[in-house]
Amino acid sequence: MSSTRPGGRARRMKNKDNPMQSAHDSPRCGAKTRCGTPCQAPAIHGKKRCRLHGGKSPGAPRGERHGQWVDGRYSIEAMEEQRRFREFFKMLRENLADL
Ligand SMILES: [Zn+2]
Repeated sequence: MSSTRPGGRARRMKNKDNPMQSAHDSPRCGAKTRCGTPCQAPAIHGKKRCRLHGGKSPGAPRGERHGQWVDGRYSIEAMEEQRRFREFFKMLRENLADL
């Protein structure tokens, strides 16, 4: 029992061998608080926010079910199509410059 006495060996265990140290090393939430400072609560495992800042929420629905959906011109699919067109025209320009 003497090893767990305050001031004994237990004090040196604080950072080393402490099973709670891994919890402190976990990613922090970082949401903006009322003070304007980042929330420092541990984020939900595999997420970027804590349980109080939407870590449990899957987020807004995708596509037409999203509240700000208008016509889909900025949807993931539309942006991907735009990117492909840009690359295609860029390739065309580069090949025409060689002629
Ligand atoms: Zn938070």
